[in-house]
Amino acid sequence: MTTPDPRELHGFGVGRGAAVGPVARAHPAPHVAQDLPAPLDLEAAKAAAEASFAAVGKGLQARADEAAGTLAEVLGATALMAKDPALLAQVRTRIDGGAAAVVAVDRAITEFSDMFLAAGGYLAERVTDLRSVRDRVVAHLEGLPEPGVPTLSRPSVVVADDLAPADTAALELDKVLAIVIEHGGPTGHTAIIAGQLGIPCVVRVIGATSLQDGVEVAVDAATGTVVVGPDDDVRQRVEARRTALAALEQDTAPGATADGHAVALLANIGTAEDAERIADVAVEGVGLFRTEVLFLGRTSAPTEDEQAEVYARVLTALGGRKVVIRTLDAGADKPLAFVTQAGEENPALGVRGFRLVRTAEDLLRTQLAAIGRAAAQTGQEPWVMAPMVATVDEAAQFAAIARDCGVRTVGVMVEVPSAALRARDVVQEVDFVSLGTNDLAQYTMATDRLRGELVDLLDPWQPAVLDLVAITARAGAEGGTPVGVCGESAADPVMALVLTGMGVTSLSMSPAAVAGVRFALGRHSLETCQRIAEAATAGRTATESRAAALELVDPQVREVLALG
Ligand code: PEP
Ligand code: MG
Repeated sequence: MTTPDPRELHGFGVGRGAAVGPVARAHPAPHVAQDLPAPLDLEAAKAAAEASFAAVGKGLQARADEAAGTLAEVLGATALMAKDPALLAQVRTRIDGGAAAVVAVDRAITEFSDMFLAAGGYLAERVTDLRSVRDRVVAHLEGLPEPGVPTLSRPSVVVADDLAPADTAALELDKVLAIVIEHGGPTGHTAIIAGQLGIPCVVRVIGATSLQDGVEVAVDAATGTVVVGPDDDVRQRVEARRTALAALEQDTAPGATADGHAVALLANIGTAEDAERIADVAVEGVGLFRTEVLFLGRTSAPTEDEQAEVYARVLTALGGRKVVIRTLDAGADKPLAFVTQAGEENPALGVRGFRLVRTAEDLLRTQLAAIGRAAAQTGQEPWVMAPMVATVDEAAQFAAIARDCGVRTVGVMVEVPSAALRARDVVQEVDFVSLGTNDLAQYTMATDRLRGELVDLLDPWQPAVLDLVAITARAGAEGGTPVGVCGESAADPVMALVLTGMGVTSLSMSPAAVAGVRFALGRHSLETCQRIAEAATAGRTATESRAAALELVDPQVREVLALG
């Protein structure tokens, strides 16, 4: 069915894909006010709690029965927790003591979680599942929709306020046509993971969460639009874009400008599964393996054995192609229970990334040893780089530790302005550098990358950010050191031309973005890219910089990639 006057919502697109489908809303975890009055009828409150636990247990079990593999196991284990008589007994006792039913549930589960955490190991790993039982039972008691992404009975567009990394990881990929997020920014985790999986995604779409379940929407990541009740024109446009993108995917040549200047096109990955998924994709390797994904959601670091196995899987999947492994980047937006310092007031400015070497050098050494073992086992030589390096001393320190652990090709990320400003010294200490434009924008613009409402300041087209990228690229060229870009900006075809013109030697991005970037690069000579870079850096504002660059882009490229 079509409506004559489609309503259009706007946000920031991730990737260039598009899709039409019905909305499936994910709901946030309910908040529990701790000062609720005691129940008037204790027996009724206990019966309600019991009924809610039973309903949640039944629902989870039904989902487990329909799911397969790990998802089925996780759901089954969570269902068992919801049916645990000891937990329910605790809730009853608290209600008898005067707690409102939702408060009793919240406190009983918090107490269980604390016990599990104290026990460590397997039990501690289950705390996330316990919390998900709490959220579901509280929602049931309050008559709210079930939190998290619902079970998808048909291919759908998932709409959420934001998705926790765990929600995104549990998505049934074959049924997710697109993701629309009301909050969160384009360099937040949901956006990055969606890009990784090649799912069209639009973030910061004000009004998205008021969309009703089942309503048809057309999501266009290239233009950042969500059309509610799309008419036939919009549907055809989406279809045409899908066809055009599919045609671009046929080109598997290595990245190069029209006149043959090579710029390696690489993929960003977070897991061994990601590596296996791109084994057949036309990328020249991996430019950023975010290893912290392996550490997230755990209560202790993975052992050297566990890590070596994962790294070996990645190297094997890439079969001889280049792989850049980034050492653990924990802290700030990626907190880890066992290393993040409690009570940091400004975690983004605190002990994070390579700085963890100050408090937990063994963590880094274990990781480097595991990488060394994977290299020896597979006969592949990964490049290894450290995140969040701010000074030439830190670059030298990392290089020394990495070489001591047997790494041959050592690099650092340039994602702190101080490192970019002194790139000419940094490149002397290492074999390569990689620009992390997500954090470089965050720190240059003093803007939290997770604050969706400040997305205009975080824009990598901000001239100040472009200047720092240009300084780094120039330093690399002068020192004969490769300079890659592995932030999300590399996935923007117009920015990719700018970066190439500045002298960047490789671009690493979510695999789904590679085809568009390859196409754009292949349609412009190096000299044109240099002119595009000059035009961009001459801009005084982010808007001016992008517009000036775009004006010099080949019209056919603009049209096929919907660049505006
Ligand atoms: C970056 O900061 O640009 C980057 C690539 O690293 P991450 O997004 O993982 O912080
Ligand atoms: Mg970073």
